Order: sequence, then structure tokens, then C-alpha cells
Amino acid sequence: MDFSYTQEEEMFRKRLNEFLDKELTEEIARQNWEDLGVGPEAREFSRKLYENGFLGLPWPKEYGGQELSPTYDFILIDELGKRWGAHVPLDVGYTMTGHTILRRGSEEMKKEFLPKIIRGEIEFGLGYTEPNAGSDLASMMMKAEEKDDYYLINGQKTFNTESHYADYHWLAARTELDPDKPKHRGISLFIVDQRSPGITIRPLITMSGERTNEVFYDDVKVPKDRMVGEKNKGFYYMMEAIDSERNHVFVPARLWPIVNDMISYVKATEYNGKLLSDDPQIQSKLAQMIIDLEVAQVLADNARWLELNELPMTMEPEITKLVVSELEQRMVDDAMQILGLYGQLEEGSKWAPLRGRIEWYYLHSFLPTIGAGTSEVGRNVIAQRGLGLPRG
Ligand SMILES: Cc1cc2nc3c(=O)[nH]c(=O)nc-3n(C[C@H](O)[C@H](O)[C@H](O)COP(=O)(O)OP(=O)(O)OC[C@H]3O[C@@H](n4cnc5c(N)ncnc54)[C@H](O)[C@@H]3O)c2cc1C
Repeated sequence: MDFSYTQEEEMFRKRLNEFLDKELTEEIARQNWEDLGVGPEAREFSRKLYENGFLGLPWPKEYGGQELSPTYDFILIDELGKRWGAHVPLDVGYTMTGHTILRRGSEEMKKEFLPKIIRGEIEFGLGYTEPNAGSDLASMMMKAEEKDDYYLINGQKTFNTESHYADYHWLAARTELDPDKPKHRGISLFIVDQRSPGITIRPLITMSGERTNEVFYDDVKVPKDRMVGEKNKGFYYMMEAIDSERNHVFVPARLWPIVNDMISYVKATEYNGKLLSDDPQIQSKLAQMIIDLEVAQVLADNARWLELNELPMTMEPEITKLVVSELEQRMVDDAMQILGLYGQLEEGSKWAPLRGRIEWYYLHSFLPTIGAGTSEVGRNVIAQRGLGLPRG
């Protein structure tokens, strides 16, 4: 197994980094990363990424791609992530829903959405979770009733993160209402215009200041051709999209800014007349961060390699997701220990070390072990899907 890049891929990486040196600012990186809402600067950056040939390389030519290896997208994701943890600006469409549209959508749907996704023009919000259906997604109650040429949708979603700025809602709703049928065989996926009449979006602000949303549907009419793939197969498509999310979003490269910031900090900060970088305990903590990051990278490369080669993935994306998200928590916890009491100061305080970034990461670090499936459920998946153990 060879994980190294080809000469062409290396050249792409070099050209990309030259572009990012000029075009990517911390403000743009944070617009998406912190879910503040992708503003005009991030949309403009997205357009430039496409125009300069950095978006859409692995996608089919007929939808505007170049049909090259998916490795190009992984390079893009990693190199962005190393700079303030940046994401592809409109990444839900680009790294999650787009792949499912390509695999499962009708030809009309592919022609309508894929070119815009590839050009970095549109964004989606994920509409899975409900107040009584998080880990147990199959219990969702949002109802889509079939009418003449549309579905009538009613119900509530919660924690739908991008909805306040996304163009479309990637919505899972119940289309089989017979309670005797298995729950997971009664769900379908829809692409809904996020500004449709009858949709209300209310903010939920997390402890790190990131915004997510409650989304209410009140007699929302969705044309039939906006159903993705086959009726009642949505649960399986959701699981495919979540695997893709795990491989593209839980990326070890996004943790490098924490380590790099901490290395600069300990080299420049004195305590009791000595540089922190001279302290063997601090050296040991930083060394452990690098060891863990390198291990996470190998796991991520392995899961990506399986995806690139269209080999079966049972537990690999789940393992990477678990390791990366739990590593983020350990890393920022250690970083907070090194910063001491000043580490708790927020961005904006003149005494906050590293501009309050570690404090922000610390508060943020609770999300990754919850979003896209909790660690507890992830371990169940590994035991059952990966090891073939019985479902409890
Ligand atoms: C900031 C944030 C952003 C999010 N963004 C989105 C989004 O954009 N779109 C979207 O659809 N969802 C989103 N989510 C929702 C997220 O996917 C759910 O929170 C997650 O799946 C857990 O569901 P729950 O919150 O209902 O917790 P529950 O499922 O109620 O779980 C509560 C606790 O019980 C544990 N538990 C549950 N079942 C089991 C089991 N079988 N075995 C062992 N332990 C179990 C869980 O691990 C957890 O600790 C987001 C969540 C957060 C916090």
C-alpha cells in the first residue's frame, strides 16, 4: 500500500499552497469552520478556488469535473485544514451530499446540482436529527405525504447546522407511515429549497459560539422530482453520506494548527525565568500530540485508500472519526494545561494567549464526539458492523 502522492499530485499541492498563501485569510477560514455563516468573502474565495482549478478535479467531466483521482480532493481538504482548520468553503455539498447525488440521484438532479456544487456555488444543510431521533435516526417522525405532483412535509428538525445560510436542505423524512413496517425502511431523502414557504429557522447557539438551528416545516410542498433516489431508501443513502462525511470532515490535518501554535507559544514564553520549551514535561506533552496525530493520519489514509479504490468499508471511517475527535479533546486539554490559568481567557482579552484560539478549540472540542454520531454509538458500530458482534 503506497500512500505517497504522484508527481502531478505533488505539483497540485505546491500550486495550491502558493494560491492559499495569497488568498486564504484567517477570517475566511473561520467563517465556515465556526459556522458563523459563509459570508461574501468565503463565497468569493470558493469561486476563486474553482476558477484557479482547485475544485472538482475528481468529479465526472459531464458535470464540470476533470475525472482525476479523488486524491486531489483529499489534498485540497488537508492543505486547507492546516491553515486555521479551514474547510472547503461550501463543504456540505462538496464533501457529503454531492457524492450521494452522484451515486443515487436522477440524471436531471445530477445535471441541476452537481455543476453548481463543483463550481462551489451552492451549499446544503444536513436535515437528519430531530428532538426524539438523534442516535436512533430511524425513529424520525417528520412526515412527507405523497400528493399529486408533490410531497407535503410537516415536522421539526434540530441541530441543523448550516440551515441559516445554506441554499438547500438535505432532508430526511418519513414516507412510509404504516407503524408495522420496519422504521428504517420508511424514510426518504429530499433536496428542499431552504427558503420554501412554510419553513421557519430558529438559532441554537452552542457554548463555543457556533450557530446551529431548529428547522420547522409547516405544510411545505416539495416537488416529487426533488426526492433523491428511490422512495423509502433514504436511510441507506444517509448512512452512505455519513461515511463520506467521516472520511472528508474528520481530518487529522485540521489539528496541526493547534500543535503549531503550541510549539510557537512554548518557545516564546518564560515561566519562573525559563522558557516553557525547556520543560521536559511540556516537551513530552507536545511529543505525544505528534505521535497521536501521525497515528490518526495513517488511519485516515487507510480509510481514504479504501474509498478511493471502491473497496468495502465496514468500520474504517468510523475508527478514524472516533480517533480524530477524541484526539482533538485530549490535545486541547493538554494545550489548556500548558497555557495555565490564562488559557481560559477569551478572544478579545488582551491577556488571552494565542488570541484565545485554544480556549475556543476547547469549547468546540465537545462537538466532534457528538456530531455525525456519538463516540458511544461509534463503538457500537465498530463492534457490530466491523466485528460482527450481535446488536444489543
Ligand atoms: C453542534 C452540533 C451540530 C450538529 N449538526 C447537525 C446537523 O447539521 N444536522 C443534523 O442532522 N444533526 C446535527 N447534529 C446532531 C447530532 O448528529 C446528534 O446530536 C447526535 O447524533 C446525537 O443525537 P442526540 O443529540 O439526540 O443524542 P441521543 O441520541 O439522545 O444520545 C444521548 C446520549 O446517549 C448515548 N446513546 C444513545 N444511544 C446509545 C446506544 N445505542 N448505545 C450507547 N449509547 C447511546 C449517546 O452516545 C449520548 O451520549 C449536531 C449536533 C451538535 C451538538
